[in-house]
Amino acid sequence: MDTLAHSRYELHVEREGAQERKKHKSYADVYFSDIDEAEEIAAETAEDPVGYVHSFDVGSTVDGPGIRFTLFLTGCPLRCLYCHNPDTWHKRNGRAIRLSRMLKKIAKYERVLKISGGGLTISGGEPVQQHAFTTRIFKHCKAMGIHTCLDTSGRLGASLSDAELMDIDLNLLDIKSGDPQIYQRVTGQPLEPTLAYARRLSDLGRPMWVRYVLVPGLTDGHDNIEKVADICAGLKSLERVEILKFHQMGADKWAKLGIDYQLADTQPPAPELVERVREQFRSRGLKVF
Ligand code: SF4
Repeated sequence: MDTLAHSRYELHVEREGAQERKKHKSYADVYFSDIDEAEEIAAETAEDPVGYVHSFDVGSTVDGPGIRFTLFLTGCPLRCLYCHNPDTWHKRNGRAIRLSRMLKKIAKYERVLKISGGGLTISGGEPVQQHAFTTRIFKHCKAMGIHTCLDTSGRLGASLSDAELMDIDLNLLDIKSGDPQIYQRVTGQPLEPTLAYARRLSDLGRPMWVRYVLVPGLTDGHDNIEKVADICAGLKSLERVEILKFHQMGADKWAKLGIDYQLADTQPPAPELVERVREQFRSRGLKVF
């Protein structure tokens, strides 16, 4: 077992991120190092850039087709009320690792990933926050013939060039609400950049699976689902919709990080609610899981 391999639910806050926290009023603030452009520019031009990694899992079958090597990067501009990985919000919470070392770790699993029809999934956090590291891993994996998948909110999708999108075989795109006001409330960010990214993937014919996190009392409104379903129905390269049921597995992290968790009393969705939501998507002819 590699020292970087942890459960995706394991709390992981490294010293550097914890130190920067002391300068901020709230853990939910955006830290300077999260958006340090000089560091990102250096990473773009470096021969062997450093990325910040929360953890990785090998063997997941829920992050794309086949068996996946799922790499969780740190840094995220969203603050989703139901986030089960708030320890990934700040880039420096991750461990610094060079691109070449990360690629060697992935390459060790090349055979099993290929035989199973699987591949690499980069998740987070928001992987595009580490644009250079993420896109270069994808490029190298494509060159190795490994299927590539980006698990993203789409918030920073505009920073990916068309050429970079061609190195991503599948986008797992979270559309967290179809209603802009609810989206803002759930994530603290505007909805439009995600929709623009979805339209762009559609126009370019890049495959995507839309993921929708179903949270009772927050994202389960009938009209809101109708809006998301209409958006999905307009995406030409959409292959499926996945309904992800809210759970409380990340709750302990919010307590440990001292951040206000508003969903402490929220229950997972009842089977009838999940079925109603699935049916709303199915009624547009969409394939729903
Ligand atoms: S986009 Fe993902 S990692 Fe970022 S806050 Fe939302 S759920 Fe958490």
